[in-house]
Amino acid sequence: MLLNPVISKLSGKLVVLASASPRRLEILSNAGLRFEVVPSWFKETLDKSLFKSPYDYAVETAKQKALEVAHRMPFVSCLYLYTVDGLILEKPTDKQDAYRMLSRLSGKEHSVFTGVAIVLCHDKSSDTDYKVVDFYEETKVKFAELSEEMLWEYINSGEPMDKAGGYGIQALGGMLVEYVKGDFLNVVGFPLNHFCKQLGLIFNSPPESPAHKIKRESDEAWSLVNSLSEGAANGEVELLENGKDVSQSSMQEHIVIGPECSRQDIPHSIVSLLDGFKASKTLFTASKLKVFDVLNSSNSLTLEEVAGQINASVLGTERLLEAAVSLGLLERVKQQNTSVYRNTEQASRFLVSESPESLNGYILHCNDMVWPLFSHLENAVREGTSQHELAFGKKNEDVFQDAYYSKDEVKIRFMDAMHSIARVTGKDVATAFDLSPYKTACDIGGCTGAMAYEFTKAHPGLSVIVFDLPQVIEMRRHFQPKEADDRVSFVAGDFFKDDLPKADLYILARILHDWSDEKLDVLLSKLSKMCTPGCGLLVSEILLDEERKSPSRALLQALSMTEGKQRSPTEYSDLLQKHGFTLKHINHTDNLLDAMLFVKEDPNDRRTLLGCSSASIETAELE
Ligand code: SAM
Repeated sequence: MLLNPVISKLSGKLVVLASASPRRLEILSNAGLRFEVVPSWFKETLDKSLFKSPYDYAVETAKQKALEVAHRMPFVSCLYLYTVDGLILEKPTDKQDAYRMLSRLSGKEHSVFTGVAIVLCHDKSSDTDYKVVDFYEETKVKFAELSEEMLWEYINSGEPMDKAGGYGIQALGGMLVEYVKGDFLNVVGFPLNHFCKQLGLIFNSPPESPAHKIKRESDEAWSLVNSLSEGAANGEVELLENGKDVSQSSMQEHIVIGPECSRQDIPHSIVSLLDGFKASKTLFTASKLKVFDVLNSSNSLTLEEVAGQINASVLGTERLLEAAVSLGLLERVKQQNTSVYRNTEQASRFLVSESPESLNGYILHCNDMVWPLFSHLENAVREGTSQHELAFGKKNEDVFQDAYYSKDEVKIRFMDAMHSIARVTGKDVATAFDLSPYKTACDIGGCTGAMAYEFTKAHPGLSVIVFDLPQVIEMRRHFQPKEADDRVSFVAGDFFKDDLPKADLYILARILHDWSDEKLDVLLSKLSKMCTPGCGLLVSEILLDEERKSPSRALLQALSMTEGKQRSPTEYSDLLQKHGFTLKHINHTDNLLDAMLFVKEDPNDRRTLLGCSSASIETAELE
């Protein structure tokens, strides 16, 4: 049910949210808003001393973040939001920092500011214009006097670490708070009430409202366009006239007025889906031909130089580079009257193969393995399984042993793909929970050990055994970091057949989605037998929402799976509960993988079992 008429107007459309904060996403989706998340690449580096007040800084950062997304994807969507917490509240860097922050707040009233920017995008015949409506919300929060013991107990719960201000008012942190003056949701992460009022002004504004002003500044129609994957079903253009929704009644009038009005007939969301595969293949091809690597070693190169270095035709290279520029992967600039190409900041960081956060391995896996599978998607849908045989001429019973590890070259490429994702997301998974009670971990299917090294880096008291198939373990040195941590060791074996190493924490990162419930029962009962009460099980996957509607990334990945499936937290919890593991914490990391921490219950302690089994998701704490 939608109580707010403005939100209900937006609910049939897709809004782009330039922040991936789980708390903001939750507030907005609880309000019935549908949106697509495109996290902003704008770094929060504005000089705070230049701003008169915390809220000026918050609003300006919000604006820059939203505009960055709007500029990067101008034809994708036209309503962008971003919120940012102000100067007073930032995330602690470590436990000591959390202590400093929280002890400063003890017994005092402080302010929480959220800056929000709504970017309205306007297509002119040649380019795109942006208008920004921004605002901030302030809420005052008074903390109780906090004893040292309380402070450290709270810090050791792990909750403060990813929270602005070092506390989460909606969870354990609520116990520290004496009172709140103002909008409670603003402290949680998003000022919903103020946001709805602003939307009201934009949609139903009286003559002097900001939205009206925006409209009067131009004779042309301002539009909010729905787009991106989920918006495909309702990708119509909505027109605003004098701030009113006139999408139906005045359509004719607008078609007559403006040259851009023919754009009403373009289903932008569908067009972006039509072109999606071309964009992916552009990225894959530029990576495969090492465009980002050659530009990295020379900083900037002319078209002819790039063509020479990648051993390709000048005409073909020109098309590829221009497409890459249009996608924001490369930049073309003038240097002494000559055009040169160079990597964008993101390309240098994520696409150059030698970069520590390179996704190159995963991109090449997508090009060489996933792309051929997707070209047989129709068959995969008819038959309900992946198409390795059709794509690669070889039938497979076990995707790893029969397909990925059939040839050394394919194996290294697959391991490289896992390695690259694990290096980008591993730190967030490793720091998702307080793991201080655990001393030995076993990373089941831990592949190259990239994730294990992140765990030992984050937890000085923890050692990790990587358990994987012998074919994988024999290649481990290929991926070993320069300064390998001797707390990481490797054991070869088959997790369906062999004994597992003993540990007090088991890690299952990207394992469960690959297998059917029946096969997982084999692995999980083995794990259950290994675990004494109190043992931990950390599952890292892309978690589906409970309605299994998003994120698309997980559902698209499932299309080329052989036998596994993507699951929601409840589905994972049900699967693991059968084997005596109870869900304790969930962390939506905002990175490529989320994390859930389960604990093995004592089967003799019926009280604990009953208490947790019926409502494990409700009782699990959302980090
Ligand atoms: N956990 C790693 C990560 O998140 O980066 C790798 C995930 S990868 C999708 C799955 C891993 O499970 C591969 O390293 C694969 O070799 C391993 N694996 C598959 N079947 C296995 C088996 N029967 N026994 C042991 N490991 C297996």
